[in-house]
This record gives sequence, C-alpha cells and structure tokens, in this order.
Amino acid sequence: MDISKFQTLKELHEYYSINNRCKLKKVATQPVYEFKLPKSKIVFIGEAPGREEDKHGIPFVGAAGKLFNDLLKSINLKRSDVYLSNIVKYRPPNNREPQEDEKGACRVWLNAELLFINPEVIVTLGSQALDRFVKGARISATHGTAFSHPSDIPIFAMYHPAVALYNPNLKNTLEGDFKKLKSFVDSGFKLEKTEIQEPLIDEEKQKEVNDILDL
Ligand code: URA
Repeated sequence: MDISKFQTLKELHEYYSINNRCKLKKVATQPVYEFKLPKSKIVFIGEAPGREEDKHGIPFVGAAGKLFNDLLKSINLKRSDVYLSNIVKYRPPNNREPQEDEKGACRVWLNAELLFINPEVIVTLGSQALDRFVKGARISATHGTAFSHPSDIPIFAMYHPAVALYNPNLKNTLEGDFKKLKSFVDSGFKLEKTEIQEPLIDEEKQKEVNDILDL
C-alpha cells in the first residue's frame, strides 16, 4: 500500500471518501473521521458511527463518546491526545451492525490511516473491532489485555463504551481496563508472555494474517 502520496491525514481521508465501495455511503449523511495526528500515538478503533457522528462527521461525539472522554480523563488523557476511528466509516441504518461487505469496503481505508499514523498501540473498542485485528478472540475473555500482532503494533482489547451505558457493571470493568491500558503505555508498551492469549483464539478463525500484514 502506497501512502506516500498523502501529505496529510486530511488528504488521505478525502481520497478514500471518494475511492471506496462501501454501500453505506448512499444512505449515510457523510463519512466520519478525524484528521489531527495524536500526540500520544494511541489509536482507538470502534465499530461504526452512530446518529450524532453521522450528523457531525466526527467519531464518538454521542453518548458513548461522552463516556469515552470521561474514561480518558480518568487516566489523565485528553481527547486531543488520542486518535479515534472506526472499522466502518459510514453510519449503518438504525445503528445495525456493519455487514461483512461494508467492513471489507472500508478495510483498506483503515489500514491506510493506521500506516500513516504508525501508532504505538491500537485499542479495539468492542468485539467487532477486536475481531478485525485478532480473528476469533473473545472479548469477554480478553478485555484489558494486549496481544502481539504481525504488524508489530500491539492490540489492546476493551469493551465498547456503549455497552457500559446499559450495563453499569461494565462501566467498572472499563474503568479498570483503562487503568491497565495506562500501565501498558507507561511500561513502554511491553508485552508480557502472560498477556499473549493464544489459547483464547479460535485457531480455525486465525486467518487473514497476510491482509493484516498490509498494515
Ligand atoms: N460507536 C462507535 O463504534 N463509533 C462511533 O464513532 C460512535 C459510536
């Protein structure tokens, strides 16, 4: 993948907004992305934009985004310190889950932005984003831990903040996992052997590694 033609993240997003085959673009108001490089090199990846994000063109500005900002604050980070994106750039109708072809159509776009940013860690929010990077990993068993990845960028699994809006127990879990993320960042992104959760990955689903290497 050649991203050298892009001088800025904004240019990259403008290019992929035109050059993508995601069918959701016909029904969404606009693509949703941000284009400021993060100071911290921490990138969070969610699932797909919701109603508020669709309206403003910016990820995580609705109710889940407000909780996300509070969680960031709890580890002394500001929204402008990190970068947020989604595996799908357009809002699916009625906030349904994105379909395989929609995720596939936005795949190169996300790979390109990650290559451009070259993050120190990718934090996946929710099972859809986790599955995108660690095929078959179960979020209930892996949240709060980091995985090694063929791209050499560690993947840190978290629940999606939206689930905590409906389940207060998961809010405590998320708070705890943000603290674990902070320790992981403070340790210099060091993976410990015990954090590599091989047995929790369904071997049969362990595919698409070549595609992920495109990162
Ligand atoms: N949920 C997501 O997964 N992404 C957003 O941008 C907003 C809500």
